[in-house]
Amino acid sequence: MAAPSPSLDAALRVAREFDLPSDQVQRGVDEFLSQMAEGLAKNGTTLSQIPTYVTSVPNGTEKGLYLAVDLGGTNFRVCSINLKGDSTFDLTQNKVAIPRDMMVASSYKQLFKFLATQIEAFLEEHHNEHFEATVRRRRLTGTTDQYRREEIFDLGFTFSFPVHQTSINRGTLIRWTKGFDIPDAVGKDVCLMLQDAINELHLPVRVAALVNDTVGTLMARSYTSPGNTETLLGAIFGTGTNGAYVEKLDKVAKLDVKNDRTIDHTKNQMVINTEWGSFDNHLSVLPNTIYDQQLDAESVNPGIQMFEKRVSGMFLGEILRRAILALTKDSEAKLLQTDGNLIPSDSPLYEIWGIDTSFLSIIEADTTSDLTATKAALFEHFKVSNATTDDAQAIKAIGHAIAKRAARLSGIALAAILLDTKRIDTDETVDIGVDGSLVEFYPKFVDYMREAMREIKGVGEKESKVRIGIAKDGSGVGAALIALVAHKGYA
Ligand code: ADP
Repeated sequence: MAAPSPSLDAALRVAREFDLPSDQVQRGVDEFLSQMAEGLAKNGTTLSQIPTYVTSVPNGTEKGLYLAVDLGGTNFRVCSINLKGDSTFDLTQNKVAIPRDMMVASSYKQLFKFLATQIEAFLEEHHNEHFEATVRRRRLTGTTDQYRREEIFDLGFTFSFPVHQTSINRGTLIRWTKGFDIPDAVGKDVCLMLQDAINELHLPVRVAALVNDTVGTLMARSYTSPGNTETLLGAIFGTGTNGAYVEKLDKVAKLDVKNDRTIDHTKNQMVINTEWGSFDNHLSVLPNTIYDQQLDAESVNPGIQMFEKRVSGMFLGEILRRAILALTKDSEAKLLQTDGNLIPSDSPLYEIWGIDTSFLSIIEADTTSDLTATKAALFEHFKVSNATTDDAQAIKAIGHAIAKRAARLSGIALAAILLDTKRIDTDETVDIGVDGSLVEFYPKFVDYMREAMREIKGVGEKESKVRIGIAKDGSGVGAALIALVAHKGYA
């Protein structure tokens, strides 16, 4: 076999910078465990460990009709979910784009009135009989009677902005993100704002739960997972990364658990939203290549979300882009420089965020000997024609290393939660639900995650007891399930 070309040789060297050896994974788990404990004890830590006030998870036997709404960005989604009690459900939904002027309305009342009006339209369209018997009858007869409990829909509200949650259906808005800016909403309770707007329209709907999408993922998986098992952890690996898991209530030291009468103590457990994207912001154990450093320095939030910046879909493509560009400029490696520069000046390779992480999945899946699919993608996405097979192999090697490192880092979070909760020490299957395009579509992401978990003291071969499954639609069925457990807890 011919010796590797300088470009491939250099690329393999760069790829090795993304190796995450076993001892570093072990140190990562040790540190994750310590940051978990610290987050349970006090506020203002790197792992926020946010109490969600959700104190039970479903096992698939739950039944009933619930509403869920999702306000997270460009769309507002209204759904009703019929839980059938056999791990299956029917879901009906309407989705509307949120008009720009609502996102920057002068008063929160405008936005929430718009949302309540969408709920009204949904009920009229999809639950017309109920709508006629409740809302319409009330309006026609002019009655002001309260609705009976059985006439009221419980609703789970997925609200993907930073909130300070104080009970299962109470939480104040900390700040808007993603293009929303309605100053008078900041500091107000988001469930009450929605409930007030619903009450203005006299709809038979109770905002029963405020829902974080990761918690929704955990609940959705717990309901749909095979064999009536209760899921331990819900984890997202999409644009961002985060996880929520079931913790012992008496370990949540920062809550005044004993005296808080709003908390259901029956099972001595509570779902905790880790916010693990900010694990190890101080970089005591996380790897930190020159490409990680450059990405962080040019991001909108330097020094923050350091775990997420090495793990999630938003960032992996950008790490690869930086590594590729460095090798194109390297006078020995000369990546993509055969017969002159192969990268045209208007190529997205020169733009920050120019590589989408789906490109990493494409090249990883390319098993042809001359990497035809990789070359085609280089042309299609980056206007690079005439890339050599060595160029393609070089890029594939680095992309592989970046994604494998991300999966092994993810394994740190999973292993730490298995050890913290001691669930790995029981005889039962431990169920984990995952969601997000990265874990769903990157070939072998789960395999690499599992491989890292097996390398950890206390996990090892027991890793085979862990069942990992995709959990879809946390903001629909997951939110409905949180409304259900909220209702059970307080009825
Ligand atoms: P979100 O997390 O925003 O709800 P997704 O789960 O679809 O949505 O995640 C989107 C992220 O996943 C983006 O950062 C995108 O680059 C990445 N992504 C999309 N498709 C793929 C793929 N086929 N392989 C790997 N990553 C992907």
